[in-house]
Amino acid sequence: MMDEVCSFCKKEKKQVKKLFQAEDAFICDQCVKKFRDTLASFDESTPGIPKQPKLPDVSNN
Ligand SMILES: [Zn+2]
Repeated sequence: MMDEVCSFCKKEKKQVKKLFQAEDAFICDQCVKKFRDTLASFDESTPGIPKQPKLPDVSNN
């Protein structure tokens, strides 16, 4: 079994509020917040919440 530590800041699960698993890596709530802030600063056209990717239209209309 894998150690449940953040793959980015190496904090253990008990050291953070929440640890998310993604494939074979983990990311903690603090890093999620950090990356979200970083992404927001890179893309000034979409501050805050990123746009939802446009999904293919699968309806029969
Ligand atoms: Zn982290």
